[in-house]
Amino acid sequence: MSIYVFVEQAGGKCRKASLEAVTAAKKLGAGEVCAILLGTGAQKAAQTAAAYGAGNCVTAEDTVFDSFMAESYAHAIAHLLPEDAVCVLLGNTAAGQELAPRLAEALGAGALIDCTAIDFVDGKFTVTRPLYAGKVFAREAVIAPKAVITLRPNSVAAEEAPAELAVTAGSVPAMDFHTIVRDIVQKAGTAVPLTEADIIVSGGRGMKNAANFKILEELADVLHAAVGASRAAVDAGWRDHGDQVGQTGKVVSPTVYIACGISGAIQHLAGMGSSKFIVAINNDPEANIFKVADYGIVGDLFEVVPALTEEMKKLAG
Ligand SMILES: Cc1cc2nc3c(=O)[nH]c(=O)nc-3n(C[C@H](O)[C@H](O)[C@H](O)COP(=O)(O)OP(=O)(O)OC[C@H]3O[C@@H](n4cnc5c(N)ncnc54)[C@H](O)[C@@H]3O)c2cc1C
Repeated sequence: MSIYVFVEQAGGKCRKASLEAVTAAKKLGAGEVCAILLGTGAQKAAQTAAAYGAGNCVTAEDTVFDSFMAESYAHAIAHLLPEDAVCVLLGNTAAGQELAPRLAEALGAGALIDCTAIDFVDGKFTVTRPLYAGKVFAREAVIAPKAVITLRPNSVAAEEAPAELAVTAGSVPAMDFHTIVRDIVQKAGTAVPLTEADIIVSGGRGMKNAANFKILEELADVLHAAVGASRAAVDAGWRDHGDQVGQTGKVVSPTVYIACGISGAIQHLAGMGSSKFIVAINNDPEANIFKVADYGIVGDLFEVVPALTEEMKKLAG
């Protein structure tokens, strides 16, 4: 029995969320862990996948896979998967979320999306999944013979577990797709992807305007963190929608989430409630965010954040 992980890669570099999925697959102890990698650099990225425990890698180094397209990727993965693959694991990234249902349909598998833990119990893949904006956690098992599961980034720490690398170069039959990618416009200045960041510094309506986010960017720079935002800040046009954390934005699970001038509405908590440590900076001691915060600073963020940045610089120096 083998468990396959779809390892997202670009230019030979694996995504952190995929390596976490490899570690989660290893920890299941349910079978051999293998990887599927697509696009230019797949063979190089396979070395990293093997370093984390997925020794058997199936690659398709075709330039057609250099741009992500759910249709072509689902077609390729379904084609490259061997018959004995009982489970396909993906990171719950934007690509993973789009691929999982398509793959499940193609394989006749059961799909469980955005899981925070995976086990193999009594011969069934069993997961933990947050529901109702993180208010409850459900335990669910796949009863279909095959399972497609996406794992929320940062739920499992990626651990090196070197395995001997054996690469099978696969080929994928051409197919007509309904969509084609004509152009990719990369947004500047998003060095750390929000969903994979270990530390996130987020700002809300309390930031007052777009320019003030500079102080969060300065703190984020020192901490190698990503900058997020509440919907109020996004709706005001201060930040891109891609930065929004919450029910209608991104779901994040960093080690540290620093909420600045964010009240802690339930829809915001839905996106960051599973962060390991929550730090809240708010001048209202009654703000809801303090109910979920591990560390709270009651104060004016325009004084607290620059002071924090200075202290962090000293520590970093
Ligand atoms: C269907 C639906 C989906 C939604 N989805 C999302 C979502 O995905 N993400 C999301 O975030 N919201 C979402 N919302 C909106 C949500 O309900 C809240 O309106 C929003 O989160 C509020 O953003 P905020 O905390 O930045 O603003 P506010 O609630 O206005 O809070 C601002 C906070 O800043 C503090 N503050 C002000 N000045 C300072 C200062 N100088 N120093 C320190 N603190 C200061 C205030 O005390 C206050 O607590 C959704 C709502 C609905 C109905």
